[in-house]
Amino acid sequence: MELSEAIRKGSKLRPQSFGAHYGKTPDGSLGTCVLGAAHEGAGCITITTTADGMVQIEAHPEVPAFPLLDEYTDGPLPCGCDDVGTQIGAILVHLNDEHHWPRERIASWARHIERK
Ligand SMILES: [Zn+2]
Repeated sequence: MELSEAIRKGSKLRPQSFGAHYGKTPDGSLGTCVLGAAHEGAGCITITTTADGMVQIEAHPEVPAFPLLDEYTDGPLPCGCDDVGTQIGAILVHLNDEHHWPRERIASWARHIERK
């Protein structure tokens, strides 16, 4: 599954969180950042919450992750910042955490990178 598709799929599963792959949203429910959404959307991980509120994350290393996250882009950042570096994974986290872009919008940028 491509990264952009996985982000979109994972975004439908939970609300967005900031600062960690998985974290509490203001209403107390469990959310995912853009990378958490990608990994859950692709099935790299399964997130379950027990009846007493414990969050359990099961990894599925047999599911391919996203090498694109470790690659670099040569274009300008879509937000206009110039102090973030060019590693794609770091840019996605930056857009999520610093600019609070909706994950669907981040997915659109990832799609643009995938098509390069
Ligand atoms: Zn920025």
